[in-house]
Order: sequence, then structure tokens, then C-alpha cells
Amino acid sequence: MRKSPDKDRLSIWIPTYLLQYLGIDLKYLRKETFMNTSNEIMSFHLRSSVVDAHGDNLSKYLKKYSYNNPLQEDPALDIQSYFTGGVNLQFLALYTPQDFIPHSTIQFTLEMIDLFYRWKKENSEVLYLITSKKDIELLEEGKLFCLLSIEGGEALDGKLFMLDLYYRLGVRAMGLTWNGRNLLADGVNSGNNPGGLTFFGEEIVKKMNTLGMIIDVSHISEKSFWDVIKLSSEPVIASHSNCFSLHKHIRNLKDEQIRAIAEKGGVIGITFVSDFLGEGVVTIEQVVNHIEHIIDITGGYDTAGIGSDFYGTDKLPEGLKDISFLPRLTESLVKRGHKYKDIEKIIGKNWLRILSQILK
Ligand SMILES: [Zn+2]
Repeated sequence: MRKSPDKDRLSIWIPTYLLQYLGIDLKYLRKETFMNTSNEIMSFHLRSSVVDAHGDNLSKYLKKYSYNNPLQEDPALDIQSYFTGGVNLQFLALYTPQDFIPHSTIQFTLEMIDLFYRWKKENSEVLYLITSKKDIELLEEGKLFCLLSIEGGEALDGKLFMLDLYYRLGVRAMGLTWNGRNLLADGVNSGNNPGGLTFFGEEIVKKMNTLGMIIDVSHISEKSFWDVIKLSSEPVIASHSNCFSLHKHIRNLKDEQIRAIAEKGGVIGITFVSDFLGEGVVTIEQVVNHIEHIIDITGGYDTAGIGSDFYGTDKLPEGLKDISFLPRLTESLVKRGHKYKDIEKIIGKNWLRILSQILK
């Protein structure tokens, strides 16, 4: 799936020894990604374990091409951009577009899983699926690990056995709802006074705890959120949500929700969707503001992570237009005075901690 290099990707000043050491091909680097990033920061970023907890690659690709074989060359399946961005692990959302719900939800979900396996087969030397805590030890530069994560419990069609089936197919996380109501729970946009978990939803939470699946609370209503917090025996994540007190958007988390996730040992992926970051033109600085808010109100660096939502939106901050720009976020965190050992947690280690805690 290698793309031919274009002139935007040429860089002239990153030391070649560093790139060779890290196994990165000079011709794939984007000039604008690295223009202002110092060698020291770049080196730190590339050597760190970098994890993004939300990408809509599979859904985006399928909406464009539907079923086809062999795979088309497309930005959504461009592995090289992950290496350029220094990313080691990508959570791949299994998101069914609303016009396929409810009648084709299972079919679309299975089609995304099938797409992932075909993509993996075509790139068997560099692309891996993470399904157990042992897999985390295999993370290294030059390999992209993926974790399959259902976005919206409608993919179960109200059947408990579907969760087992998806698990067998390699799925290890699930967001209980998208914005609307489903058979598990209400989402953030389920009418004026959204409810909480259904009995089926409770059954699913318990089953996910038993299987060792990660429960994702992004998109669910506040009432559902508190039901999950009370019920789940394991930490929960919000894979792509920001802070309500910085920007009052229905998809963002209130301070008490952020603290509750932190107290349970969970992680929140700050998302780059402009609508959830602030008003008007947004930049990397707003992304860092949301990260810093989580650090401030939880009193530490163990809760904030990244959940970009690349390929799920076109509304992105200046300077963070795709995954290859991620070193710039690290650079901004350094410039705001955060220490490398703390930045490591934000850009990846927090996600790895929760995976090693929950996966079997
Ligand atoms: Zn989403």
C-alpha cells in the first residue's frame, strides 16, 4: 500500500542516522509535520509508544468503495502515514452509518471486520491485530497494531451471543451507544431527558467485564454513564470526548464525569473534532487545553490520552489534519512545559496501561 512520494513529503534536515535507526524512510516524511519540530522532540516522539484510541478508517473506506478486491489505495488505509506520525497502535472504530441502522448494522459491522482482515493480509509484515495483553509487548517501530472497537451497541441487534461472536472475530472494545437510543442504553442525543442502561445493557456491561472487553462511554447519555460507572467492575474509557467545562457541547464530559473515569482508573481520549474543541478556528493549542484540563481536575497525568477521530470528520484543528501530524501535538505539550515522562503517558502509555489491565 506504499504511496509514491510527493514533494510535500520531502524533508531535508532530520538527521538521516536518526531515521535509519528508527527504520523510517526519509522520502515519506512530510515537510510541514517536521518543519518546526526539534530533533530532540521528534526523536522522543518516535521512540515513544503512541496510541490513538479512535479512527474511523474502516467505515470511511467502505462508504467510498463498498466491497472490492483487491483493496483500493486510499488515505484511510495508508499505513505509511501512521509511521510518519510515529503511531504504534490505532483503535479502529466499527461505526455503522446511520442510514444502515437498524436493518444492515450487523452486515456493515461484519464488512468492516472483513475489510480489516483483508487489509491486514495485504500488509502482513507491518499490520497486526491486538487481542490479548501479551500482544502489547510486541509493539515496536515499523509495525502498526490495531484494536477493533465497535462504536454503538446496535451492532449486537439485542443478542448476547453476538458479543461472543464479535469477540471471537477479534473485537476487544465497544462503545455502548452512538448518539441515539439503542437496546443497550440511551445516547447523548436521545430526546430531552435521556434514560440510562436497559436490562440488556446491564447484561452486556457484565459480560464485557467477564470477557475482558473495554467499555467505551463516549456518546452515551449522562444517566447511562453513571449506570455504567456503578455497574462495571473494570475501568472504563471515553475513547473520543472532550471537556464540557471548556466547551459546552453535548458530546463533552462534565468535570464530575471526568473525575469518575479517573477514580476508576480509566482513560479519556481527547478528540480533534473541531466542534468538540471550541468556537471558530481551532488549533493544536485548544487540544492541549482540553488535555491540561483533565490533568488539572484529576491531579495527575494518568487519565488523558488521544482519540483523534481521524477519518470520522473533516473538521480538524489547524496543524493536525491527519495522523502524520501527531508529532506536533507532542511538540506543543513540550512547549507548554510538560515533562517527557508525563507526555509519554498522554500520547500512549495510559492506553497501554488500561489494555494490559483489561485484556485477557
Ligand atoms: Zn464517535
